[in-house]
Formats: sequence, structure tokens, C-alpha cells
Amino acid sequence: MPVTAYDLTGRTAFVTGAASGIGRATAVLLADAGATVHCADVAEKDLAQTLTAIEDAGGTAHPHLVDVSDRAALDTAMAAAVSASGPPHVLAAVAGIMHSSPVLETREEDLDRVLAVNFKGVLYACQAAARSMIDAGVPGSIITMASSAVDAANPGLLCYSAAKAAVVQLTKTLAAELGGHAIRVNAVAPGWVRTPMTGRHDANSQRRVEAAMARISPLGRVGEPADIAHAVLHLASDASSFTTGQILRPNGGVAMPW
Ligand code: NAD
Repeated sequence: MPVTAYDLTGRTAFVTGAASGIGRATAVLLADAGATVHCADVAEKDLAQTLTAIEDAGGTAHPHLVDVSDRAALDTAMAAAVSASGPPHVLAAVAGIMHSSPVLETREEDLDRVLAVNFKGVLYACQAAARSMIDAGVPGSIITMASSAVDAANPGLLCYSAAKAAVVQLTKTLAAELGGHAIRVNAVAPGWVRTPMTGRHDANSQRRVEAAMARISPLGRVGEPADIAHAVLHLASDASSFTTGQILRPNGGVAMPW
């Protein structure tokens, strides 16, 4: 396979959660690969930093300040992206939030918020991107962000894990429905990755994670955002042209309980 299979020159990508962590690394890498990248997030200042990183490296990016759980706002952002750069060839639906509480203490509003961002937000982005791809007749690649949390029982992570399990089912169902339009749909399910999301855990829990990783991960380390961005690039590019409905697990070799 020639390296040019990873070249995204002339293509457009829409990345949610692009202001931080995995989403930022993904937006920067897709731009490095040649794509014009539309970066969506709720965090305005951090989003501006992503834009600067892409533009300083000679890439092209557009910001969209949008809450992915707001379907109308997401549709408006996608329409603006299409009008600026044409239909997206790639969607990376990365935006997500963490929530932890024991099942017996889980409140309805926590469940609703996590499902709204981590599941409905992915669904709305997939719908908006896929409709634009189909209308324009362009082949596309949609990448959703699941988690190794779906591979294990994680105390405290019911809301998060349930939303990510729903993302996995969304991914497989969409792959089955959209294959006839030459649209591929795959998920990335990272293990523990060093980002602001995981950094918000306290120092003790961070130490426990690092100790567990050193003990049970074949690679003996936690992931970095770039590790996951490269998995997304693979799925976004022609290098994965016969891959759809799959879950790619960049997790250091194990699905680790948090
Ligand atoms: P992060 O907190 O660094 O980044 C998440 C981004 O999503 C932020 O920029 C945030 O502003 C944005 N976001 C949150 N709610 C939003 C909303 N309603 N609308 C638009 N944007 C919103 O986290 P991260 O670690 O980079 O996580 C990115 C994705 O990867 C998430 O879906 C997360 O569940 C998943 N993931 C992370 C890990 C990990 O260990 N870090 C592991 C598995 C999966």
C-alpha cells in the first residue's frame, strides 16, 4: 500500500471535540495529512488554540462553536461547513464527557447529560455528515469515539460505558445502512489516554492507573492523544478502504478496567 493512501489533500473533515485532547490531536493530524478541517467544540478559547496549531503548521481550519447535544446547532454548523468547503469526506465524532458515580447513586440528570453528549451528540453528528455526503454523492468515512470501557465492567462508569456501548451499536448499524452509499463507519475504542479528561482524576487515581498499566499492559504505558489520532487517520483515509463496521482498539494491548 503506497503511503499516498494516507494523503487527504483536497478532502474536508469535520471533527467534534476538537478543542482538546484526542479531538485536537485528530484535527491537527488530519490537517497535516492535507484535509481542510472544520473544528467543532463548546470550549471557545481552547478551540482557538487548535486553529492556531493547524494554521501555524500551514493547514486550513474553520472553527464552529457548537454543543453537539444540540441537534439544530450541529445541523447549522454542518451546513456552514458545507457552504465553506463542500460536503465532508470525513467525520470524526470525538466530543465526549466523563461522569463517574456508583449505580445506586446515579441521578437521572447525570444519565441524561452523559447520553445527550456522548451518544446523541455522536448520532446527530453522524446524521448531519452522512446526509451531506449522500446529497453530494461523495464517498465518506465516519469515525466515532467509543472506549475500552465497553470491554470491561468498570465500577462507577455505568452512564459513560452505556453511552459508549450505544456508540458501538450506532457505528455497526450505520455501517450496515450506509455501505451502499460508499460511506464507511468505524469506531475507535481507546484505552487510557493522557488528556485533560483523564487528568481531572486525582493524583492517587492517576498513580493507580499508571501502576496498573505498567503491570498489565503489554506496552507498559498509557496512551497519548497522537496514538489515537493516528488510528483515526487510518480509518479516515483510503488505507482502510475495505474496513467498515469495525471497532479499532488502540489500548496498549489490553482493555483495562478504570
Ligand atoms: P477532553 O476532555 O480532553 O476533550 C473532550 C472535548 O470534547 C473537549 O474539548 C470538550 O470541550 C468537548 N466537549 C465536551 N462536551 C461537548 C459538547 N457538548 N459539545 C461539543 N464539544 C464538547 O477528552 P479526551 O480524553 O480527549 O476525550 C475525547 C473522546 O475520547 C471522548 O469521547 C472520550 O470519551 C474518549 N475517550 C477518552 C479516553 C481517555 O483515556 N482520555 C479513553 C477512551 C475514550
